[in-house]
Amino acid sequence: MELQITALENGVVIDHIPSERTFAVVKLLKLKNYEDVVTVAVNLESKLLHKKGLIKIANKTLSPEETATVSLLAPHATINIIKNSKVVKKIALELPGEIEDLIHCENLKCISNAEAVSSRFMKVRSHGEDCYKCFYCERVTKACDIKLNLN
Ligand SMILES: [Zn+2]
Repeated sequence: MELQITALENGVVIDHIPSERTFAVVKLLKLKNYEDVVTVAVNLESKLLHKKGLIKIANKTLSPEETATVSLLAPHATINIIKNSKVVKKIALELPGEIEDLIHCENLKCISNAEAVSSRFMKVRSHGEDCYKCFYCERVTKACDIKLNLN
């Protein structure tokens, strides 16, 4: 068997993912059904994080929506875009300003849980932390406490 975890020729490398969230990113990007080579590594040594995860995806580009949602799980990740075996672009992630559909409001009485409407959250600062505020009921959740709907 040939080992294929060599450098990518074309594709994306998502680096500096908190190790324990690596598989959630895999799920988020629906890589289980991806037809090209995907390399997933976890528990790599990292100076920045305690342990980091890394995902290499051959022949893939990330849409702005995918990039934004990855940043919810891994706000300090970097995305390297590889063309002809060279890094042509490095994107430092930022939390998205708005999130639709991907998360449930934790307020059970919120209309977004009762009616067939898309959930909608806006990024706000609260007590010095990044948070998301529900568009409907104004419930504020810390960005680091957000649970994504990955089904
Ligand atoms: Zn709500």
